[in-house]
Amino acid sequence: MDSPLDVKLSAALGGRTAAAFDKAFGLTTVGDLLSHYPRRYARRGELTALTQLPIDENVTIVAEVLEVRSRSMQARRGSILEVRISDGKGILTLTFFNQAWRANELKPGVRGIFAGKVGDYRGTLQLAHPDYELFDATDDRADPAAAKAWAELPIPIYPAASTVASWQVQKSIAVVLDTLPPIDDPVPDAVRSARALMPFRRALELVHRPATDADWATARESLRFQEAFVLQAALLQQRQRLRSVAATVRAPGALLSGFDETLPFTLTGDQVAVGEAIAADLEAAVPMNRLIQGEVGSGKTLVALRAMLAVAESGGQSALLAPTEVLAHQHLRSIVRTLGPDLSARLRPTLLTGQLPVAERRKALLASVSGSARIVVGTHALLSDNVEFFDLGLVVVDEQHRFGVDQREALRLKGAQPPHVLVLTATPIPRTVAMTVFGDLDISSIAELPAGRSPISSHVVPLAEKPGWMTRVWQRVAEELAQGRQAFVVCPAIDSSHVEQGESPVEPVGPSAARSRKSPAGRAETSAAASRSPLVEPAEASVGASRNPLVELVETSAATSRSIASVTETLATLRANPVLAGRRIEALHGRLPSDEKDALMRAFAAGEIDVLVATTVIEVGVDVPNASAMVILDADRFGVSQLHQLRGRVGRGSVPGVCLFVTGAEEGTLARERVEAVASTLDGFELANRDLELRQEGDVLGSVQSGGRSSLRLLRVARDGDLISEARELAATVLAEDPELGAHPALREALARRLDEAAEAFLAKS
Ligand code: ADP
Ligand code: MG
Repeated sequence: MDSPLDVKLSAALGGRTAAAFDKAFGLTTVGDLLSHYPRRYARRGELTALTQLPIDENVTIVAEVLEVRSRSMQARRGSILEVRISDGKGILTLTFFNQAWRANELKPGVRGIFAGKVGDYRGTLQLAHPDYELFDATDDRADPAAAKAWAELPIPIYPAASTVASWQVQKSIAVVLDTLPPIDDPVPDAVRSARALMPFRRALELVHRPATDADWATARESLRFQEAFVLQAALLQQRQRLRSVAATVRAPGALLSGFDETLPFTLTGDQVAVGEAIAADLEAAVPMNRLIQGEVGSGKTLVALRAMLAVAESGGQSALLAPTEVLAHQHLRSIVRTLGPDLSARLRPTLLTGQLPVAERRKALLASVSGSARIVVGTHALLSDNVEFFDLGLVVVDEQHRFGVDQREALRLKGAQPPHVLVLTATPIPRTVAMTVFGDLDISSIAELPAGRSPISSHVVPLAEKPGWMTRVWQRVAEELAQGRQAFVVCPAIDSSHVEQGESPVEPVGPSAARSRKSPAGRAETSAAASRSPLVEPAEASVGASRNPLVELVETSAATSRSIASVTETLATLRANPVLAGRRIEALHGRLPSDEKDALMRAFAAGEIDVLVATTVIEVGVDVPNASAMVILDADRFGVSQLHQLRGRVGRGSVPGVCLFVTGAEEGTLARERVEAVASTLDGFELANRDLELRQEGDVLGSVQSGGRSSLRLLRVARDGDLISEARELAATVLAEDPELGAHPALREALARRLDEAAEAFLAKS
């Protein structure tokens, strides 16, 4: 039987309302709507007084309409409705554009609750298009006790959209709740009583229609735990299922031991330990599913290559999925170099990317399908249908944060038997995020850097206070070059023509903006801002990929009003700068053809270019040991982990690195704080945690875990780590006793609701 939660909103609320909810928030079922939780609760008493309104903040005010005026606009067609309201102490103006009809309900003398963001229009405080709900005359009770209860009744304030106001959400939810039949609890009884959780149905009632603050607080706690529990159960069950299919055993042999003997260095302790874990995984009859996290330059790629050699021993092929063309090329080159001529000839490492010339591509496809290429390196082009393997034994995904879960799955499906999967990431992942996003993977860390690495010194160059320091930056670069070193200069934009296209589409991620947005559309506006903004170069591989949690939000800060450093302008400036006279300075960015990018990278690696002015194409994995200086312009435009990654491009050889974070952001701003956080430590794990804190409660997970909107609602990985661990343990116990959840149909249904479509497709096939 279908759960009442799966009933379509069109059946519950009618087609038009349902369409509005779908469009505004991506809500399509009763369950979706009921998990559109209030983002906070207001009260009729104790509201912001009109005399002390904070500008730019969201306020909720109880007030009475004093006066309503409609006038037509001078510059444009249309009308403005101005409504003056008062709480008896102060006066505020509400404005509505082209909504003269509101005068029919906003009549003088009417009382209501008004919510919106306080704006300052020519010195007058106002709320533009506030959300409001008018009180019925009957609400004004004579009975003092009833009046007090009424004044204290929490009013849920929902994430709203321009087309659906909070009160409309509230009314629709009331309609649904009024007719909601009993629903079974996804959390099994034993767990529920152990955690003293409210029954699900009751928790839904109280979170949406609380009589007191205690009601919604307890209800939210129950729902929060339930969310963690269902998510962990889904991940654990996914993990169990992946492990329930047979994989081909790939025992390491002579190929690997021969390779190890030729290595010019000894493996670090962590490399050995992770190597052993991988060998054990490959020798087991279930598919490996392991995430390796380790600082940039910690030698993850080498660890992956050793796994490929183990797989090649029995004739198996490995596919290495890189996030960009540049990196795929670089990986291929470094694999060929590391393997040496003999092993390269035997294993035939082959490149397969979207930008290969047709003839080469055909050859690569053939080498892949015939099995003659034991190692195939490529970009997301590897995922396309016409790429086939003879015997795919191992999939290595480099820099996981550029790929979504579905891409990992698409590649996995290319094996006759499910291949082993190894995921590499240089972005340190806080434990809770790892548990939440990658809860279906085993996790190993490489903390130790190979011996002989030089330290990197990091400095913030605060142009807001010290505009003169820019000159010093280029001098410092010149000093590095004078010692035979090379430098990177990273800019957020490619050229200025894009800056002029209009206002930055990147929305300020203020507390309310980020928090209130739960819709897919809203999420795209915030977390995908980096890729959609013409000011910021989109990562190649993120095209069509679901965005990852660890790709940060790019916030507009004071930077909006400044011009943004671009590759072309910076190139011109540097070429004209006398301190750099005679140096070869080139530009690299994502809009160059792939062969040109590759040629530039190669020339830089060969020391033929002194300064490379680039966008974040150089972000991940680029390895040029002689590069010692990294200058990041408008550093506040990048996220914490991006800055950390960029810094990791220098100090890779025996040369000490220097990283200069140039920023115009003012002291005390969040943007500046993020840059300072990165400059203050080289420890990626510490940074990952700081990053999590600095992001307020923004949607760290984005839409990673599943397509659509089913990522986190009440759960916040930055805050709820303990809760998530506890939920994981309890979920593991339940699943251990009842793997297919035969005795827990409601939990089974809840898991099904959570499952990614791609994952489902995979499960159906395997
Ligand atoms: P990552 O992928 O983690 O950024 P790589 O595997 O690309 O790191 O390694 C970075 C560089 O360090 C490469 O040039 C690699 O050959 C070298 N390297 C790897 N392991 C060691 C080691 N144990 N000792 C010395 N150098 C190493
Ligand atoms: Mg690497």
